[in-house]
Amino acid sequence: MDVKETLSINSMDFEVRRSIRRKRISVGLDPTAGAFYIAAPTRISAGEISRTLLPQIDELIKRIKKSENRITPPHMYESGEKFFFKGVEYPLKRVIFKDKSSLRLEDGTFYIADNTSGSEKETFETWYKRALYEEILGLLPKWTKIIKVNPTSINIKTVKSIWGSCSAKGSLTFSTRLALVPTELLEYVIVHELCHMRHMDHSAAFWKELSGYMSDCRERRKCLRESGYLYKWW
Ligand SMILES: [Zn+2]
Repeated sequence: MDVKETLSINSMDFEVRRSIRRKRISVGLDPTAGAFYIAAPTRISAGEISRTLLPQIDELIKRIKKSENRITPPHMYESGEKFFFKGVEYPLKRVIFKDKSSLRLEDGTFYIADNTSGSEKETFETWYKRALYEEILGLLPKWTKIIKVNPTSINIKTVKSIWGSCSAKGSLTFSTRLALVPTELLEYVIVHELCHMRHMDHSAAFWKELSGYMSDCRERRKCLRESGYLYKWW
């Protein structure tokens, strides 16, 4: 785990990401984390960052939020809206079920019970968690056999900032959002986390091992980074 530098401006907390190549201070939105961060040159004090950003921070955030809403507007859960599952988008239809179902994916359509009004986000979350768990259980045996590791537990949590993690005790956690991504990207995260059971860091040895199992792992990683912001149901 890296220790992150954070800075509070106008009672908002930001992660500070420093880089030698960076010339000026700017504010950005991490599409995976859904959180704002400050990008800054390596040699600049926290005080100077605060002084530079304080007069313009509200305006900057307003502008970023506006452009983000243009790219991925929040879901209203109305009939016709589309939702991802395994990388494919399916339209939603509000219905009245005869049984106690709350959400179903059938014949290329997500059917949601009209009485879930107000809790659609949670209804989707429960559905995605279960579907992802099954998908992971289907993919795991092949990879645990190849990599020769055995995770102690598999957990699914709705975390926005990471796709997966591996504890020192070999317990793997996956983000619910992985239910929405194409299977080859989920598979990449699974193999990545399983490799952490052999290397707890992102060292050259870790990447060498991972590429040995998945020669296009860097392309898959890039794809997840670039399209990650699309995969949300809220
Ligand atoms: Zn990792």
